[in-house]
Amino acid sequence: MIENKEKDCQGACVLCNSDNLDYGRMKIDGEILWYEYDCNDCGNSGEEHYDVRYSYSTADEPTQ
Ligand SMILES: [Zn+2]
Repeated sequence: MIENKEKDCQGACVLCNSDNLDYGRMKIDGEILWYEYDCNDCGNSGEEHYDVRYSYSTADEPTQ
């Protein structure tokens, strides 16, 4: 049986608390951003989720 556990533990494995993690590529969907990780200690994998917050806008102005 697989149970989806959720925990506030940035940089650490949800299941064993180890910080020995291999992170995958950043993924993004709307305002949710996450990294998949594989834990090198317990062998489980999980995801680390972030809220995306607006920062600022830029544009290149044409010059002559
Ligand atoms: Zn672990």
